[in-house]
Amino acid sequence: MQTECIFCKIAAKQIPVEPIYEDEQVIAFKDINPAAPVHVLLIPKKHLEHLLAAGPEDVGLLGHLTATVGVLANKLGLAEDGFRVVINTKEHGGQTVHHLHYHILGGRSMKWPPG
Ligand code: 5GP
Repeated sequence: MQTECIFCKIAAKQIPVEPIYEDEQVIAFKDINPAAPVHVLLIPKKHLEHLLAAGPEDVGLLGHLTATVGVLANKLGLAEDGFRVVINTKEHGGQTVHHLHYHILGGRSMKWPPG
């Protein structure tokens, strides 16, 4: 845990959170500033600054995160019509919170390419 990391604080429940899904390794919760009718963030509880900070020891965790997307899609009612998963990475990726997170966006048609 990084003491100044907002998502570490959420994962540790130092900041109140209503989990949409949680297990030993990951937690999912609503984005505070939704960009779609459904906008959920899925994070590892372990602090990883971004996707590239994951090492060989994190392969299982990354697999679990990705598998959890399907669990969430079903739970959120997104499985039939589809949804988008976004992992903003570093400056050019538009990352603003420096703790790895998957955006799960749905409830409307998405445009391509993104801005
Ligand atoms: P990024 O720009 O790093 O890919 O995405 C960070 C996301 O975290 C943004 O969509 C932002 O709205 C969300 N966010 C930032 N701070 C908080 C917070 O304290 N609580 C929640 N639920 N979402 C947050």
